[in-house]
Amino acid sequence: MTTKHHPHETGARLIRGATGDWEIVLGLEVHAQVSSKAKLFSGASTEFGAEPNAQVSFVDAAFPGMLPVINEYCVEQAVRTGIGLKAAINLRSVFDRKNYFYPDLPSGYQISQYKSPIVGEGAVTIDLPDGSTRTVGIERLHLEQDAGKSIHDMHPRYSYVDLNRSGVALMEIVTRPDMRSSEEAAAFIRKLRAILRYLGTCDGNMEEGSMRADVNVSVRRPGAALGTRCEIKNVNSIRFVQQAIEYEARRQVDLIEDGGKVEQETRLFDTKTGTTRTMRSKEEAHDYRYFPDPDLLPLELDAAYVEAIRESLPELPDEKKERFVAEYGLSAYDAGVLAAERETAAFFESVASGRDAKLAANWVTGDFFAALNKAGLDITASPVSAGQLGALIDLISDGTISGRIAKEVFEILFTSGGDPRAIVEERGLRQVTDTGAIEAAVEAIISANPDKVAEYREKPKLMGWFVGQVMKETGGKANPQAVNEILKRKLDG
Ligand code: ADP
Ligand code: MG
Repeated sequence: MTTKHHPHETGARLIRGATGDWEIVLGLEVHAQVSSKAKLFSGASTEFGAEPNAQVSFVDAAFPGMLPVINEYCVEQAVRTGIGLKAAINLRSVFDRKNYFYPDLPSGYQISQYKSPIVGEGAVTIDLPDGSTRTVGIERLHLEQDAGKSIHDMHPRYSYVDLNRSGVALMEIVTRPDMRSSEEAAAFIRKLRAILRYLGTCDGNMEEGSMRADVNVSVRRPGAALGTRCEIKNVNSIRFVQQAIEYEARRQVDLIEDGGKVEQETRLFDTKTGTTRTMRSKEEAHDYRYFPDPDLLPLELDAAYVEAIRESLPELPDEKKERFVAEYGLSAYDAGVLAAERETAAFFESVASGRDAKLAANWVTGDFFAALNKAGLDITASPVSAGQLGALIDLISDGTISGRIAKEVFEILFTSGGDPRAIVEERGLRQVTDTGAIEAAVEAIISANPDKVAEYREKPKLMGWFVGQVMKETGGKANPQAVNEILKRKLDG
């Protein structure tokens, strides 16, 4: 594995402009919904898909006199996430009111954390397509409430408000402006999502809105000071994040090269046109009149509480990847792919247990993943269990079937289930290792093709053709090694 910590100095992906090259600078603010049954300051349910306004407590609707009560479970999830992001946990944090008016915010303020967030600086290692890795700095993680939802497309003249989301706990995870391409931003979101899922603190489901990103984009001449950024709000898929970055960076380059100036502003990404457009000029922190929420005490954690959470953390994707390389001798690439999801890693380890791990990794990342993809299935819904795949691999290892026949058996397993050994017996797929039978097939092919035999003397590459013929003759069941040996002996001898 090649680990490049500063690929930017050695050649980031640049944008070619009319007046020279430009570098993209990116920072993300990811909102991750805490996997909690209840909201951050009320006992109302957070379940997705309920009837509008069916999950709203008096606190969430901001009825006068209602008081918020912190949900300890959400605090624990924020601490877990902070530790998973290799970040400093602040034993004292403060909830502030962020004041603004919006119809889906009945209190007129959002409870958030401003100057004293629960989690400080951390780092996430991202895996790039070329196999290299790099580190993205985490600036902070703070806890805050989500707002409700305004619905503008149900009535020609009225807008509706759904407060089910009002008060749901969010972790806002803010990165340093450390990313330099849309691919790096995508890799960051993928890795962050994997970590959150391993920790169980957020389901990472972007379609349901449990994870969404504000994307900060600026451009500069390579090595120059940071340029003015635009923030693209609420982008809800990795593909859209990449599209938004590509469009926005190009827009800024064209604007500057035409003699214009990038205005710091908040923009929207239009998923239909793949473009961004102005939403509002960028608000500053002072516009929100932040002040500590008088209804809530500062949040104080003791060190032992944090340590107990640290102790309970599962093995995370990077550590698992490293272990897969060390313990099973996998390539960094395969190890990364297998460690990306907890379920995939567990499946692989179950298949590999007591078997040739590389063969297991090849089968899981090869035919198995391909079949799942083709069927549009998640690994948790796989029709082939780890036990069945393991049993199939055993048949290859003990010489009962060839790798080629195994692919056939796998297809049968995937579509109709069953026991691999029974399938092989029933369908007579057992590998022919009986050298007499193979020898007979070889002789038949040789005597039927004297021209090819003559050609072979000039072109030894023709061996492949002979192997193919013998395999055909034996219905693909001949042991390939035996075929090769016998052919060589007969043709060369
Ligand atoms: P705000 O909360 O007002 O959006 P922050 O200072 O917290 O402002 O920064 C928000 C995000 O913007 C962070 O992810 C940060 O990395 C990113 N960022 C800051 N400066 C730039 C820049 N010049 N180009 C791109 N991203 C930037
Ligand atoms: Mg922001």
